[in-house]
Amino acid sequence: MPSTTDDPPIAPIACPVCAQIEARPAFAKSGYSFSRCANCGFLFCAPYPTADELSAYYNQPSRTPTADFFNKAASRKRRAMIRSLKFLPYVWHKSVLDIGCGGGFMAGAFARLGARASGLDISDGSIAYAKKHFPRCTFYCEDFATFRARHIQYDFVFSSELLEHVPGPDDLMTTLAAVTKPGGLLYLSTPDAGHKAVPADTVQWTDVAPPEHVQLFNRKSLEILFTRYGFRIEKAYDNPKPAHSVIFRREA
Ligand SMILES: [Zn+2]
Repeated sequence: MPSTTDDPPIAPIACPVCAQIEARPAFAKSGYSFSRCANCGFLFCAPYPTADELSAYYNQPSRTPTADFFNKAASRKRRAMIRSLKFLPYVWHKSVLDIGCGGGFMAGAFARLGARASGLDISDGSIAYAKKHFPRCTFYCEDFATFRARHIQYDFVFSSELLEHVPGPDDLMTTLAAVTKPGGLLYLSTPDAGHKAVPADTVQWTDVAPPEHVQLFNRKSLEILFTRYGFRIEKAYDNPKPAHSVIFRREA
């Protein structure tokens, strides 16, 4: 076999968003390899961390909620109230779900604006806090598949800074499509890999943060993904920071 100093060509893999066989290794960070799709620009951990790896990471003692975990509760509550105001027309007298609700601050704020508000999160500590502090809301501590089996649908679904954390888009997207009423609205925020504030050398971007952030979208990859699950963009907010802030409508 002839020797060569060139690296062997790396076979591209299927993109989890657009399904084209066009994703190739881009860089490694913190021991995780990222690939980027040449067709849609999707940037993702390849392979994704397993559910067990993520569970071990999020449940390590230093990350377990303690008495002072929500010690900034007053300012969180105030910030949630302010943030919720721009959603007033979407939540007033509506059924609302915050998916990935953490300590329930946004659900609590939506309830104060007249919503029938619920929250879903996988963290026991967060849901225990939410139930105690926002008793007007309904909270669920379960995984997506278990929650889908309840067959509850909402007028407005809110998902802030969750999509980048989950190991692959499909379980969350299946859930978003299942819990949003046909014709209903969904708000999503997630880092924006196509934003002008992202460093040219993407590996330097602070939102490339495995194992917490394992997938990052530009506008094209985000739109392809949501279209595949029956959503179209209703409104995209301008953002000075590299983050998508989008309202989608589920096809009726
Ligand atoms: Zn792609």
